[in-house]
Amino acid sequence: MLELTGVRSGYHGLEILHEVNLTVQPGEIVAIVGANGAGKSTTLRTIVGEVKLQGGSVTFKDQPVVGGRSHELARRGLMLVPEHRALFGSLTVDENLTMGARARKGRWGFEKDWILDLFPILRERRTQLAETMSGGQQQMLAIARALMGSPDLLLLDEPSTGLSPKLTWTVFDAVTAIRDRGVSVLIVEQNASQVLSFADRAYVLESGSVVLEGSGADLADDARVQAAYLGG
Ligand code: ATP
Repeated sequence: MLELTGVRSGYHGLEILHEVNLTVQPGEIVAIVGANGAGKSTTLRTIVGEVKLQGGSVTFKDQPVVGGRSHELARRGLMLVPEHRALFGSLTVDENLTMGARARKGRWGFEKDWILDLFPILRERRTQLAETMSGGQQQMLAIARALMGSPDLLLLDEPSTGLSPKLTWTVFDAVTAIRDRGVSVLIVEQNASQVLSFADRAYVLESGSVVLEGSGADLADDARVQAAYLGG
């Protein structure tokens, strides 16, 4: 579904990602874990073309992604939920969801009811302005809005940022339900122990290079991962 081969990218001529190879197969949750500044967000932003590719290739459903605009990628079924969420703050929950459904015209999206079942709080808050909601609620709305566009692959940048442990699990449980519904997910997280517990596969990124990869369970058991990211 998604394939990065020898990807190099960065900012202002400075290379941040060094020859990154990564794949996401249909129906998988794949996690990218790593410390602050390892290049996790840069990887997602490179995939959607926000950060310029300096070498290698990114393909989605066997077609190059390079040069694609975000609305074109959305129409092809690739959707990024950025860390800062990028909601329409002065629109209501319902209006944000309607905007999301426009991302992929002519395709039947998921039933709105199913999406609201994932995040029942959004059903209660349908008429509330997005900007007046808590960080956790905004995160759920950002994911729900992306789902309204019926993606085949969802890219999630640190969805647990600023969330309580309980809300973090609400969001992570929803990620599993989304995968079970047939959407592939590539999720970036600093919260390594939690994300490895439900990811099918994961990559550990250090200073812009993939240093380890494997199943979520194997990486959670790996002594090097435990020492570096799971508190020993
Ligand atoms: P974090 O959890 O802090 O977001 P990360 O693993 O997602 O960490 P990135 O945000 O991808 O890391 O950052 C990787 C490197 O790229 C860092 O050294 C960062 O300072 C640098 N960087 C990120 N964004 C920019 C930018 N817009 N311009 C210049 N350098 C940047």
